[in-house]
Amino acid sequence: MAAAPGKSCGACTMCCSALEIAHFSKPAGPLCANCRLGGGCTIYAERPAVCRDFECEWLTSRDLLKIAQLYLDGGEWEGKLIVSEAWVHTSTRPHARIDEATEYGYLWWLKSFKSGEKSYPAFFMSGNGGNKVVAIPALDMTIVITSTNYNARGMHEQTEKILTDYVLATVE
Ligand code: SF4
Ligand code: SF4
Repeated sequence: MAAAPGKSCGACTMCCSALEIAHFSKPAGPLCANCRLGGGCTIYAERPAVCRDFECEWLTSRDLLKIAQLYLDGGEWEGKLIVSEAWVHTSTRPHARIDEATEYGYLWWLKSFKSGEKSYPAFFMSGNGGNKVVAIPALDMTIVITSTNYNARGMHEQTEKILTDYVLATVE
């Protein structure tokens, strides 16, 4: 399958971890032995069909903002209900405690981001490299920060510092 026009994997190798590849008896989760982080597939010309056929959604930052805004708006987008309000409510409530500051809903992390004297409860997605999609209900604000610090120590802390010290710090 040809890649969608204008889309490129860049340094991303997420599907080389996420996919189950029966050809190599590779379960979903661990990185494929043929993948070089930041360098891609070392057997690209001979990669199995499942790898050739896979296309992720290639969500752009604007797409991710829309998902966060959809959840902030109770599952509605431009007046049309896309996701049930009950699911939005349930998935953005705590169902597991991760540590003192962090809880987990259903596919959303939950915690408060502090900036100066203020603290903003948020629900957010958090991905390898330090990528974050954040929704702050009290501010009706959605924020996307993309980052390529894959597997690097401090990747999430760096993004959170950008969020608190450079984005939330501008909120009056
Ligand atoms: S197809 Fe998607 S998930 Fe896979 S490497 Fe490319 S951008 Fe990443
Ligand atoms: S064979 Fe190549 S494209 Fe397929 S999962 Fe492994 S590294 Fe990725």
